[in-house]
Amino acid sequence: MTALTTQARETIKNWGWTERTTIAGYTRHYFGDHGWGGDKCGCVDDRCIGYHHDERDDCQCLPAWLDDYVKASRDGVR
Ligand SMILES: [Zn+2]
Repeated sequence: MTALTTQARETIKNWGWTERTTIAGYTRHYFGDHGWGGDKCGCVDDRCIGYHHDERDDCQCLPAWLDDYVKASRDGVR
């Protein structure tokens, strides 16, 4: 299992304004009980770094995934 980078973890934890976003919740939303299966940048695609962006660059996918997660949580889908 890939570990998330510190930056990705901070981004996830600080994402929500009214909703609380957690790494556990984010992981569970996309991977159920299997644990994190995405890339360490926070993208749920496990081949993001080196494909969508360089390792040193911010992930452009993560905000979109987080948005989807927050919207789904708001609708009561977990
Ligand atoms: Zn990425």
